[in-house]
Amino acid sequence: MEEKKRCMCGSSDVRVVACSGASNVGQIANQAAIELARENVAGFFCLAGVGGQIKGFLKSAREADLMVAIDGCPVQCATKTLQHAEIEPAIQIIVTDLGIEKSHDIILDENVCRRVIEKVKDELLS
Ligand code: SF4
Repeated sequence: MEEKKRCMCGSSDVRVVACSGASNVGQIANQAAIELARENVAGFFCLAGVGGQIKGFLKSAREADLMVAIDGCPVQCATKTLQHAEIEPAIQIIVTDLGIEKSHDIILDENVCRRVIEKVKDELLS
């Protein structure tokens, strides 16, 4: 995954996908992707289009300079969906790795969300 990382200050086409799962961590992943798009760090990309094998989505995803996958938990649905389409994310974040337990209450923890965002930024700059 390391070789495709690059600086955020360039004009690279960075895309982010989130598992958007039906859990607190899945929705933190989704919200982090929204915020990364709002902050112009990465374009929020439709993972469902990749999973659905829609040609235009597959082409765009494969043409991205760098793909970031945010997964809620170790099941890694976002990353595996990309890999199933032969797209390897350059950066992968798993929300539960930050110490939050997965639950189905779907309550967004904004502090954890911010930590995910900062981790993506750190990874992009490393
Ligand atoms: S990675 Fe985990 S939280 Fe996300 S959709 Fe898959 S099972 Fe749900």
